[in-house]
Amino acid sequence: MSNVRVRFAPSPTGFLHVGGARTALFNWLFARHHKGTFILRIEDTDRTRSTDEAIDQIIASMRWLGLDWDEFYRQTDRVEIHRRAAAELLRRGAAYEADGAVWFRVPKDGVTVVEDQLAGQVQFQNRELKDLVILRSDGTPTYNFACVVDDRDMGITHVIRGDEHLNNTPKQLLLYRALGWDPPIFAHIPLILGPDKTKLAKRHGALSVLEYRRRGILPEALVNFLARLGWSHGDQEVFTRDELIAFFDLDDVGTSAAVFDEQKLLWLNHEWLRRIALPRLAAFLAEFVVVEGVATPDAVAALGEARLLRAAELLRDRSRTLVEMAQSARFLFPGEVPLPEDDRGLFTPELAPALARLAEVVAAVTDPSPAALEAAVRGALAALGLPLKAVALPMRIAVTGSRVGPGLFDVLALAGPEIVAARLRAAATRCRERTER
Ligand code: GLU
Repeated sequence: MSNVRVRFAPSPTGFLHVGGARTALFNWLFARHHKGTFILRIEDTDRTRSTDEAIDQIIASMRWLGLDWDEFYRQTDRVEIHRRAAAELLRRGAAYEADGAVWFRVPKDGVTVVEDQLAGQVQFQNRELKDLVILRSDGTPTYNFACVVDDRDMGITHVIRGDEHLNNTPKQLLLYRALGWDPPIFAHIPLILGPDKTKLAKRHGALSVLEYRRRGILPEALVNFLARLGWSHGDQEVFTRDELIAFFDLDDVGTSAAVFDEQKLLWLNHEWLRRIALPRLAAFLAEFVVVEGVATPDAVAALGEARLLRAAELLRDRSRTLVEMAQSARFLFPGEVPLPEDDRGLFTPELAPALARLAEVVAAVTDPSPAALEAAVRGALAALGLPLKAVALPMRIAVTGSRVGPGLFDVLALAGPEIVAARLRAAATRCRERTER
């Protein structure tokens, strides 16, 4: 197949949500797979509902997802073309004027058959379709009409869009026929449902694309996730962009509704956090640490490139989102880390001398490598006659505020001797205070 021309045609009435993003992605993948053309067409002829802010958001979302377009149109720039087509329908007697609007006359009998590449053959009784306003009294075209005129004018070969538009297709086919034009191929992709099998809505956690970005989802993960909403390729779950382009075709788009599972998105995001290049991950970490209020830009700069990279490398295995990752990086920065209430009991008076001694030896370490810190800690413990396991957990919790994380000495090296010593000293004090109570 060649000369494939497809379009994503959002109405800029709100943010780009996951359903729309999936439609955009399927069109983009289809175009890239067939080395065709992908068009972004903003359907803004309903001036009461369209906003420039929504257009900006849609464009920002597409850019973030990496869905680049080859041609861009705003439907309002094309109103003259729509009006000319309406005049042609009037001339042919297929349209009439009433109440200041132009109406398309729908045949009163017969059937209109949609040959859908995915839904198969769907028949519509013409008598159930009503005459249709094509130009409003303010002269603006309505969706069904502008869509047909533009799809024709832009040479669209395949209309790939959500199932909810299947009911519009017979009207559009009748318009094509009345204008003497051949229709494109239609492919209506199945609905997305929430886990409870009702139509996907906000309450299922389905959000705007940019909200997923804010929550620390990687574009790779969201693209991967959206691709699998209704499309599959064997048992494979993790796909690179190049693999998606190579494998995607309409033949593998299912005909039953896809279920939106946010846990799966988090799983995929975890997979992608482990796969992207480390410098890029480190840059994301730096960004999210600041945005999440974990540290100031100055504190991030003070950390230095090498430690930031090392932190990203060590923390990525344990995080599902960039937000989680940023929060787990709190211990890298000066200041207190909150101790979990349940773990306070670990800090017994008996532990105070050991923690105080460890603070001293760590403070004296000049080479902040994991090996040097390990040698210092083990040396001090041997002198005290204590095994590492007697202090490892309280140490980790004192330094990071958490029971889990990378290896203990990696953690100490990441935080650096100064911060570690300060937190161990504070922990020793806390242990002693328990005696006084
Ligand atoms: N503007 C329509 C929408 O946002 C486009 C439908 C179509 O692709 O034809 O739903």
